[in-house]
Amino acid sequence: MKIKDYPITKIFTNLPLYQPIEFESDDERKLIELYSFDGKIDFYCNECKKESTYSSSLNDENRMRRTHFRYKNFGISTSGNSIPPKKNYLEIKEIFTCDFICARSKDHSIHFMFIYDNYKLLKIGQYPSNADLAYDKNRKYSKILGDQKFKELLRADGLFSHGIGVGSFVYLRRIIENLIENYHIIASQNAPCWDEAKYQKAKVKDKIKMLEGYFPVFFSENAQLYGVLSKGIHELSEIECLEYYPIIKTSIELIMDEELEKREKELKIKAIQKSIDKIVSENT
Ligand SMILES: [Zn+2]
Repeated sequence: MKIKDYPITKIFTNLPLYQPIEFESDDERKLIELYSFDGKIDFYCNECKKESTYSSSLNDENRMRRTHFRYKNFGISTSGNSIPPKKNYLEIKEIFTCDFICARSKDHSIHFMFIYDNYKLLKIGQYPSNADLAYDKNRKYSKILGDQKFKELLRADGLFSHGIGVGSFVYLRRIIENLIENYHIIASQNAPCWDEAKYQKAKVKDKIKMLEGYFPVFFSENAQLYGVLSKGIHELSEIECLEYYPIIKTSIELIMDEELEKREKELKIKAIQKSIDKIVSENT
């Protein structure tokens, strides 16, 4: 992967650990933009227990790098700073951290560590780790997936965050297959003219068609997801799998979010119906 094709915010949010990003001779500014990133990123906060926006908290070292870079390239200096000899940042080896503070509390933070060496950048650390965040972020889905498949969902995230593309795809595929099977059970028990023999013989894309109406709408509208997942195992490269993973994972989350919302609504209706029945019986 090349830094030219990678937006800076995605380096923090999407780049797996130890996945090299290549720099070319005209990419020095991009490296400084990363050192001195002054913007916001969206990330899960395990203190707030929800998605949050984090602002960069520029540490002194990165602030100094930015000052040096501006001086070197544009002759801009900040009074009081001692300016070191001019250097090309692309030719040095450095380990640096980037820190972010949650918008809801300055005590909630996330930190990334990188190494830049010989035109290559690697993310070498993150705290809290993706594994810690993934557990919290995904916990609500255990209600839909059950313990075993929930563990597999965490494993998918774990493999992805360590740069293992095809492996993480295999687990996502198992999650999708599990969801399909759950809806198959519901459909086979409830559809008026259910043809089980036809279902068993059908290809996956036809099975999905047969289950339409039982899936969350997002699933039906994006049934081709399964095709991409199964293709991943045979045809896509590690890098392509890593590139697609966040999109497919988010799509699976949306499917499960829709299911959770549906269940919550049903529970609410059940509870309110009980109360309504009570009022009616007391007043008739
Ligand atoms: Zn927070």
